[in-house]
Amino acid sequence: AKSAGGNRYEVADAEADARAITRHGLTTALPAALDRGEFFIEYQPLVHLGDGTVRGAEALVRWLHPQHGVLGPDRFIPLAERTGLIVPLGRWVLEQSVRQARAWQQRHGGTGPLRVNVNLSPCQLTHPGLVQDTVEILERAGLEPDALCLEVTESALIGADDDLLKPLRRLAEMGIDIALDDFGTGYSNLANLRRLPVRVLKLDRSFTQGMQQFPADPVDLKIVEGIVSLAHSLDLAVTVEGVETGAQAEQLRILGCDTAQGWYYARPGPPERLHELALVDATG
Ligand code: C2E
Ligand code: CA
Ligand code: CA
Ligand code: CA
Repeated sequence: AKSAGGNRYEVADAEADARAITRHGLTTALPAALDRGEFFIEYQPLVHLGDGTVRGAEALVRWLHPQHGVLGPDRFIPLAERTGLIVPLGRWVLEQSVRQARAWQQRHGGTGPLRVNVNLSPCQLTHPGLVQDTVEILERAGLEPDALCLEVTESALIGADDDLLKPLRRLAEMGIDIALDDFGTGYSNLANLRRLPVRVLKLDRSFTQGMQQFPADPVDLKIVEGIVSLAHSLDLAVTVEGVETGAQAEQLRILGCDTAQGWYYARPGPPERLHELALVDATG
């Protein structure tokens, strides 16, 4: 037993070492990756539950690593946050996404303008250049502020003081929507919502998971119903993430959710794909 235990530890250590090496390698490769243009963005449609039309998309960053292939954001965003690279990387994502939204609008003659959602890391929120950078990016691209939604996680805003909220308020005053991402995972005080310059709640995937089958888990139904009615009473729209089945979509629509996102509609994909999906809607 002793030697088996010893082996287990050795294996565990070797794995931990390998992870640390990869982490270290990825961390040191990050800045050059931005210069070399190894990042790209996929867009996942946001669908209006009432009429099924595509209203916009969330921008999700990926890294095409020369050795490791395509890496998802969970592999490198935490590293970029720790090293500060998230500020230039986040600015790059914002600029690309805003230009993309402008391009969609110019090509899309359908049911109203396509909007874009961009994730903001807490480090970007505390960066003094955020408001100015955002204004300049919108102006350079010629995109109206109301075509942009910035997503901030609930956990980033828990206990947020005025210094943190000030830039968000300025962005909201300009007409940019702020969405509270991963809502329901951060145990925030619901009354706290009134203090935040937020227009949209993005209900975390964990809530929609209980609705994959019909009929849904009754407790999940009650919780989502409560959140939707609270949100609507505060004039907030509700977006649901992780919709994977038609049964989920239908139940969430009946519960009054406004917008949905998930594999049932489309996986994240290249920007041309969004244009095709939106065009299909526009022409029926
Ligand atoms: P998120 O903002 O909660 O984004 C939603 C995640 O759920 C995405 O994972 C998306 O691909 C995935 N997803 C969408 N529909 C479904 C579904 O039906 N089922 C399941 N199981 N998953 C679904 P992804 O692309 O791996 O992104 C992970 C996280 O990385 C994001 O979570 C976000 O927090 C972060 N992230 C992505 N892009 C950026 C960025 O540009 N900046 C920052 N700061 N964070 C980003
Ligand atoms: Ca998000
Ligand atoms: Ca989310
Ligand atoms: Ca999430």
